[in-house]
Amino acid sequence: MANGIKIANTLSESDTECFIPHQEIFDLLEKTRNPDPAEVRDILAKAMNKERLLPRETATLLNTEDPELVEEIFQTAKKLKQQVYGNRIVLFAPLYVGNECINGCLYCGFRVENKELIRKTLTDEELEQELYALTSRGHKRLIVVFGEHPMYSPEYIAGVIRKIYAFKNGPGEIRRLNVNAAPQTVDGYKIIKEAGIGTFQIFQETYHLPTYKKLHPHGPKSSYTYRLYGLDRAMVAGIDDVGIGALFGLYDWKFEVMGLMYHTQHLEERFGVGPHTISFPRMEPAVNTPMAENPPYKVSDYDFKRLIAIIRLSVPYTGMILTAREKPEIRREALEMGVSQIDAGSSIGIGSYSASDPEEVKKSQFLLGDTRPLDEVIYELASHGYIPSFCTSCYRAGRTGQHFMEFAIPGFVKNFCTPNALLTFEEYLMDYASPKTKEIGEALIEQELMQMPENRRSMVKGLLERVKNHEHDVRL
Ligand code: SAM
Ligand code: SF4
Repeated sequence: MANGIKIANTLSESDTECFIPHQEIFDLLEKTRNPDPAEVRDILAKAMNKERLLPRETATLLNTEDPELVEEIFQTAKKLKQQVYGNRIVLFAPLYVGNECINGCLYCGFRVENKELIRKTLTDEELEQELYALTSRGHKRLIVVFGEHPMYSPEYIAGVIRKIYAFKNGPGEIRRLNVNAAPQTVDGYKIIKEAGIGTFQIFQETYHLPTYKKLHPHGPKSSYTYRLYGLDRAMVAGIDDVGIGALFGLYDWKFEVMGLMYHTQHLEERFGVGPHTISFPRMEPAVNTPMAENPPYKVSDYDFKRLIAIIRLSVPYTGMILTAREKPEIRREALEMGVSQIDAGSSIGIGSYSASDPEEVKKSQFLLGDTRPLDEVIYELASHGYIPSFCTSCYRAGRTGQHFMEFAIPGFVKNFCTPNALLTFEEYLMDYASPKTKEIGEALIEQELMQMPENRRSMVKGLLERVKNHEHDVRL
């Protein structure tokens, strides 16, 4: 316990006492079947008021099956997204540092039993090569990913983070690092926080305890509770931005969305802030991993869109991350529905940004659905009117909990987020873009400027001029 809060600091905690009330979730999902359309519309109106929904209300949306009402859910999610976040999309790339792992997650290519996987951890020199390749393409934000292995201690992870921030031998620099690694103890998180991380992400994979136990047969990850409270410990250690997620395909998608809602509610109640981001990866095929080829609860594209819209409406303040696991077509639709961050130009083999490796797949955790280069994704985003953003400003100015500000402070998006998005986009256009991306990007920036009131427009124009004169990292 820390300050009276259960934090499950050891692996031997009981798995049954936790904040995911399994029976209550089943009861709610049962009681809210065939909802009255008027009730659904009341809930949509509440969401448009930017209030977080209660679990019962989320369950009602999950049980809305009438296609016309589902369409209303989609349209409301689009409206809410536009109102709160505007048309910015934050871009990042995953950097896989090592795939050693002692766990046995049945769906993951990195599990210890997988003898077909080629095990690899980047050396310092290879890390530099990866950073060179990433910064040459224009990336500024990374999520660093590790398997779970004693080698990847908190000191080791902190060391990697420091090396990345210190990297200055490329054409650009990495300005924000998030981490997706095994849950740590409070002391472990403190060591990692010291190195200056942004968000610490842990996906619960499945919130359904019996399924969790089946899929994680051994190793530290077999403790459901240690993982579930992993982000409580991060917050106790002073990491304010935490990312939750579930791996869709392991169990009933409606149950998992409810799990994410109870997790959100728990963090809000205990710490006064909910998750900075929510991720909702769908399971993808992986080398020598039969379960990933054939997920037991495969989520259709339609249901995937439903769950994205419902998460957007249920937790209006949170960032929503969609990864390149998904194919470009689905990514396009998901963006409209509420997603605020995507990775692009991603490569998930260990060392695969810097070296094209015919064995890459055998070093990867799973296979990506969207393998387009960053510039192509940026071109497409711009052609659909989205402003690609590499902004890292809030976190570096100590404004952590960025999404809460976007959400809670009137005018914050207009005064900070949009100008910063334009400045980082202009920097990308100046330094990295192909001619066609530059052309469409400059036109988009012009169009955005035209929509600003005169005083803000001239201020932002002045800052953009500095970027055009090759000044870097101009921000508000
Ligand atoms: N090893 C750490 C852990 O498990 O928390 C951190 C990184 S793990 C490499 C990142 C995430 O990849 C996991 O939390 C899981 O949700 C996801 N993942 C594993 N296998 C996957 C698959 N076959 N398809 C899609 N995502 C997968
Ligand atoms: Fe290891 Fe994480 Fe993969 Fe599980 S999901 S096998 S812990 S890398």
